[in-house]
Amino acid sequence: MFVYADNASTTQPDERVYDAMKPYFMDVYGNSSSLHAMGRNALAAADRARGLIAQSINASDSEIYFTSGGTESDNWAITGVAKALEGKGRHIITTSIEHPAVLNSCKELERQGWEITYLPVDSVGLIDLTQLERSIRDDTVLISVMWANNEIGSVMPINEIGRIARGRGVYFHTDAVQAAGSIAIDVKHNNIDLLSISGHKLYGPKGVGVLYKRNGVKCSSFMKGGEQERGQRAGTLNIPAIVGMGEALKYACYNMSDDNAKIKSVRDYFIRRVRADISDVKYNGPTEDNLRLCGNANFTFNNVNGDVLLARLDMEGICASSGAACSSGTSEPSHVLLAIGASEDAARSTLRFSWGKYNSMEEVDYTVDRLKAIIAELRESTTLFKTIKGEDKYV
Ligand SMILES: *Cc1c(COP(=O)(O)O)cnc(C)c1O
Repeated sequence: MFVYADNASTTQPDERVYDAMKPYFMDVYGNSSSLHAMGRNALAAADRARGLIAQSINASDSEIYFTSGGTESDNWAITGVAKALEGKGRHIITTSIEHPAVLNSCKELERQGWEITYLPVDSVGLIDLTQLERSIRDDTVLISVMWANNEIGSVMPINEIGRIARGRGVYFHTDAVQAAGSIAIDVKHNNIDLLSISGHKLYGPKGVGVLYKRNGVKCSSFMKGGEQERGQRAGTLNIPAIVGMGEALKYACYNMSDDNAKIKSVRDYFIRRVRADISDVKYNGPTEDNLRLCGNANFTFNNVNGDVLLARLDMEGICASSGAACSSGTSEPSHVLLAIGASEDAARSTLRFSWGKYNSMEEVDYTVDRLKAIIAELRESTTLFKTIKGEDKYV
């Protein structure tokens, strides 16, 4: 059996999205800046996608900019606002559990003399609003808080953050890459000034994203070049990907409550079975439904090396993740798990299973059966290793 339980890393494209993209590879391949008919058709396709996206998040078409993905949208929002407002102040507030696209943009600004406040999070990965309010200063120009966390699925109090930011006249950016498609987004209701989305996290194509920039928000252009995207983001538009992005968000919004109900039942069944069948596990992140993404399950399997477990699951056809996909390959324990108070050992014994709309209960059964057997085997060899070496370590 093959089980893809890594939907927070990327998702299997929806067939309908793929079908909608196809004509824009081989038939309507014109440059959307060209004035001839094929160029105009390409531009019309991009503008239809723009309309779908604007409608999905309650924005205007003129507030939607296409980018190369969530990473670029995050980089643009943070460095663009920083550049545009550096005369006003050089302080930014973010959190300690952001995606590296946000964290590393902030670190780069720090090297240029900016001050960044990294708000801590509680034991389930949520910020404290009083602490947020207290950290706003006269020279604060931006608050960037992710809507939902990619590792532990925690959902931040976006509405309250938006209200606080707007009340203090500070721009509010949110990385909504994990939230989009799973939580209804209304940029007006939530007082959001800038918002990042990525196509491939919502059953769309990779390499395309959106930055929503509220009309009037001061944020410098990102790519320098031609006049594409109202002169704000140069470069020939990736029409097939943009068409796919629009369709993906459209379907995600149309089917959100049905998809979420299905995904949640699969995820909850997984949690129940892990708890019943495997000893010495800790469930990380919020337990309340309204505070957690419906597909996310994050478990620490004590005395098991997460990377070894991941590799063994892979051999059985099961795709999961240790830490975040973007940080794995490094031996650093997850900054998110450390931020919620996990020890380095615990962080290294942790796996994320992110369930999606194509998963089934049978896949959960297979996954937990394999997980149970592999963990028993690994723990047994750990005990053996400890006995032989007399060391309190595991392999
Ligand atoms: C995946 C992800 C990103 C990066 O998006 P890409 O399109 O892969 O560049 C940013 N933020 C979060 C929370 C993500 O999960």
